[in-house]
Amino acid sequence: SNKILAITMNPSVDISYPIEHLKIDTVNRVSNVTKTAGGKGLNVARVIHQLDEPVSTSGVLGGTIGTFISQQLNTVGLQEQFLHIPQESRNCIAILHDNGQQTEVLEGGPVLTATQQTEFMQHFTSLLDEVSLVTISGSLPQGFTTDLYAQMIEAAAKKDVKVILDSSGDSLVAGISGEAKPLLIKPNQEEIAQLAGRELTDLADLQDVLLNEDVFNGLDWIVVSLGKDGALAKVGQEIYRVAIPKIKVVNPVGSGDSTVAGLAVGINRHESIPDVLKTAMTTGMLNTMEKETGHIDPELFDEYFAKVSVEKLN
Ligand code: ATP
Repeated sequence: SNKILAITMNPSVDISYPIEHLKIDTVNRVSNVTKTAGGKGLNVARVIHQLDEPVSTSGVLGGTIGTFISQQLNTVGLQEQFLHIPQESRNCIAILHDNGQQTEVLEGGPVLTATQQTEFMQHFTSLLDEVSLVTISGSLPQGFTTDLYAQMIEAAAKKDVKVILDSSGDSLVAGISGEAKPLLIKPNQEEIAQLAGRELTDLADLQDVLLNEDVFNGLDWIVVSLGKDGALAKVGQEIYRVAIPKIKVVNPVGSGDSTVAGLAVGINRHESIPDVLKTAMTTGMLNTMEKETGHIDPELFDEYFAKVSVEKLN
């Protein structure tokens, strides 16, 4: 099989409330409500789907919120293979108000049990038989152990399935500390500094850290995205600088996820190293040019791909 499986462990229904002026301690009324299935891995899956690469989604969901997420995925033609649980999935509310301010209310989501973690691992392991690559994005649900991603990477390694890990904090540390390693991680500069245990001064310093810090041993690909400045990547022992054109940004939210989607598609299609990096920068850029999060215009792909340049630095 050459299908990609995009994991979101704690998906949500993202509710957006545009309000001219937010008033505290009184009633606010809202007419233009939008509700969408949310979660980093769902953004990844949507962009992979837009590039016409076979993709499926999994994680854990439940309740009426879970049903809504499931239906939305089906509506856009995304295969839904989540573990269904009796608890309710979460809502996340963003209030857009007062000329560009954004106030968010984020539920923690269901608190899961050790038994449900075992069930999920069994479910995930069976899904591995149908896929060539897995992307894991975002944080863990409450109740699951910090080493879940490490366990998933181990299970994938046993079946020769590649893993791209895009998370942060303890689950990222645990995810790259096991014996089996993810093929690729996509930390930002802040996460690299955290993993290395020190501040980074400039790109030369970043390069030095990627090549020499022990925490990064055994990771084939480390792609550090740098927003409008493109990316710096280590592949094997080689360092690549990726430069992107100046573009008009409409909404940058989800560009990290879209970058992961591009990496997954490029690797799954066995593109050359520079082309994988160009594909990823293109999907990242195209996402920033759209209003909708985790959405690209595939018609623009070739034009922007041609504007990305990759230079080997060492
Ligand atoms: P996120 O907050 O979505 O997780 P991130 O920090 O992981 O983001 P970024 O480095 O901000 O990811 O963006 C990923 C990619 O998207 C960049 O490498 C670039 O290709 C594109 N991108 C993001 N912001 C811009 C921008 N302002 N101009 C051009 N391209 C951008």
